[in-house]
Amino acid sequence: MVSFVCNICGRFNQVEQFATEPATCACGSNVRVRALIHLLSMELFDRSLTLAEFPKLKSIRGIGMSDKEGYAAILAEKFDYTNTYYDREPRLDFTETHTEHYGTCDFILSADVLEHIAPPVERALEETSRLLKPHGFLGITVYCNPSDTLREHFPDLHTYRTVALGDSLILVNRRADGGLEIREDLVFHGGTGETLEMREFGITSLKQKLLGAGFRDVHLLTENIPAHGILFDDDVSQPLLARKERFIMNRAAVGELIDERRAAQTEIDRLQEETESLRSESQSLRAQMSMAAGSRWIKLGRKIGVGPDFSANKR
Ligand SMILES: [Zn+2]
Repeated sequence: MVSFVCNICGRFNQVEQFATEPATCACGSNVRVRALIHLLSMELFDRSLTLAEFPKLKSIRGIGMSDKEGYAAILAEKFDYTNTYYDREPRLDFTETHTEHYGTCDFILSADVLEHIAPPVERALEETSRLLKPHGFLGITVYCNPSDTLREHFPDLHTYRTVALGDSLILVNRRADGGLEIREDLVFHGGTGETLEMREFGITSLKQKLLGAGFRDVHLLTENIPAHGILFDDDVSQPLLARKERFIMNRAAVGELIDERRAAQTEIDRLQEETESLRSESQSLRAQMSMAAGSRWIKLGRKIGVGPDFSANKR
C-alpha cells in the first residue's frame, strides 16, 4: 500500500497496486507528471509544494509544450503561463524561429514531447534555449532506453506524410536528395496521427544534445519523493531539468511574493477580528437567552408544554 498527496490536485491517495506508468490519482497524474511538477517547485521555490500551494506570481513567464490540461490550467492561474501546441492555437512550433520571444521565458515544460519532434531535434532544443531567459530552465520528461542508445527512426525526414493504407498507416518521405522512402515500421504514442515516435533517446545522447543546445547543467531527479507518490522503478526514465544559469527569481516576482504574504497576513488579522466579534456576540446572546428563560411568560409556557426549549443550548 502506497499513501501520498498528489502534488497536482492535492488529493490524498492510498494505492494498493502502485505502478509508475498508469495514473495513480483520480486526476490522472502518474509518477512522471508529479515528478515534473516537483522539479518545477524545487527550482522556483526550493521546496516541494502542491500546485495549489504555489504562490501566484504573474511576473514568472512559462510555456508548455502540449501540457496536460489537469496541471496546465493551474499553472495558468499561478503564472504568466501559456500552454502551446504545434498544430493548433496557441501555436508554437519549436522547430521554427521566434526571435521576438527570445530571452523571455523563466521556464518551459516538455512532458513526453521530445520523442515526437521531427528531426533534427537539436533545432527545437536550441530554440527552447533561446526562448529562455539567461536564468531560465527547461523541465523534461522523455523515455530513455536502458541500453542508452539514441535511435533516430527517420534521420532523412524532409517532406513527409503519414498515409492510411489498408488498416495501417505508412510514412511516405521525399528526402532532401529527391529520393522517395516508404516506411511501415511506425510507432505511435497514445493514438495515431501527430504522435508518431521519431526517436528513442538514450540518457547520454539527451544530455549531450541539451549541453550542445546552450544549456549549462542537466539535473536528473533520481531520488524518490514518497510524500508526493514519486517512486521510480527500473522502467521509468528520470525526469530532468536543463538549466542555463541557476534560476534566480526576478525582482518583480520577489515583490509579488512579499505582496502575497502581506495579503495573507491581512486576511489572518481580519479573520481573528471576526472570530473575536463572533465570540462576544455569542456571549451576549447567551446572556439574553438566560434572561429570557427566567421570564415568567416562558415559565408559564413551559408549564403548559409550549414555547422554546433552551435546555439544548445550555452549556
Ligand atoms: Zn491528483
